Amino acid sequence: MLDVAEEKLALKETDPEVFQLIEKEEVYQRESIRLIPSENYVSRAVLEASGSVLTNKYSEGYPGQRYYEGQRYIDQLESIVQERAKALFGVEHANVQPYSGSPANLAVYYALLEPGDKIMGMSLPDGGHLTHGWKVNFSARFYTAVQYGVDPKTHLVDYDQVRDLARAERPKIIVAGATAYPRRFDFKTLGEIAREVDAYFLADISHIAGLIVAGAHPDPAPHADVISTTTHKTLRGPRGAMILCREEHAKAIDRAVFPALQGGPHNHTTAAIGVALQEASTDAFRVYGQQVVSNAKALAGELLERGFRLVSGGTDNHLILIDLTDKGVFGKKAAKALDRAGIVCNYNAIPNDPRKPFSPSGIRIGTPAVTSRGMGEAEMRQIAGWMDRVVGAPEDEEQVERVRSEVQEFCAAFPVPGIPQ
Ligand SMILES: *Cc1c(COP(=O)(O)O)cnc(C)c1O
Repeated sequence: MLDVAEEKLALKETDPEVFQLIEKEEVYQRESIRLIPSENYVSRAVLEASGSVLTNKYSEGYPGQRYYEGQRYIDQLESIVQERAKALFGVEHANVQPYSGSPANLAVYYALLEPGDKIMGMSLPDGGHLTHGWKVNFSARFYTAVQYGVDPKTHLVDYDQVRDLARAERPKIIVAGATAYPRRFDFKTLGEIAREVDAYFLADISHIAGLIVAGAHPDPAPHADVISTTTHKTLRGPRGAMILCREEHAKAIDRAVFPALQGGPHNHTTAAIGVALQEASTDAFRVYGQQVVSNAKALAGELLERGFRLVSGGTDNHLILIDLTDKGVFGKKAAKALDRAGIVCNYNAIPNDPRKPFSPSGIRIGTPAVTSRGMGEAEMRQIAGWMDRVVGAPEDEEQVERVRSEVQEFCAAFPVPGIPQ
């Protein structure tokens, strides 16, 4: 394999414009505190697999049943990655070809439902994903969507409400998973509810896959019919997805991914997923996943001390949703000021948000990326201090600039996996 420096030289010569933007992004990722909970830093090994000659291949089909010749190594590779996924998540079948999380969920619905069938998922404003039946998404257009939410006071999933809704609506599938829910899912109870109403149970663990592997979040495998996950969030792999399921659904899932919805798999991504799965099976990754949660708790604790209001009052996973309604600043303004100060997060709706989705009342932060840089609880308290200063005076550009230079100096002490110093 080409040495990476050598590869970049070719890029610099061939396309200086693209080269420079990648270089700038590299510096930006190194010099900022990245708190977007769906983001991470992959290892050099994952980057190398992802940027390999496997991108040159076409491999429609599955190992041993391809529609193209020339698959002697690709077949071995995909089989290894399937085996690693099955072992790591304790499931009977793994499809490692979905291009990303949204297409993976589409494939699950395609495999198990007929058009118009009823999907029951968590609503987007309460933390669910677009593909769980939100109105602007295919999942609400091709299927009939009903949505559960969180309790308006506690901000926790109200499992009694979920059960009542399931009994009343009799959905064909119940989906659990979220992009902005700071608490644990009770997969056992959700599985019981699904069985009671004769629905399939899909656990979409996109955000929390790495925590599950590390033993830092309850495992859905004993309770779910199908598990979908992205590979690029807490799992710390390349951008991609997997569908994990019981053997009884294996054929339907595989046929849904190919030929129903996709063509050739992205073999370079498959390889990088394999590397990430290998990394995720180590003791070091277990420590990482536990630390992600400890860091989130430390960050939440310090924010609470400083008078921030947190949705559900805290966190027990990797993410925190900050309710800024009593701070006199809305989410977008806070997020933009934080970005200028070198702290990257996103504005986000909070449950029962009084403001509109394009300018909501909250910001969403998380600890997967900073934990990958080796930061611990002490650093989380420092980060909360900077956030407090910036959010307290988002228009004080002098202070924003001071924080930015402090952040830059701080970041220099925490090498970034995958990016040479
Ligand atoms: C991120 C995410 C997805 C979608 O993944 P993409 O790769 O962005 O399409 C689906 N479900 C959940 C719960 C997610 O967090």
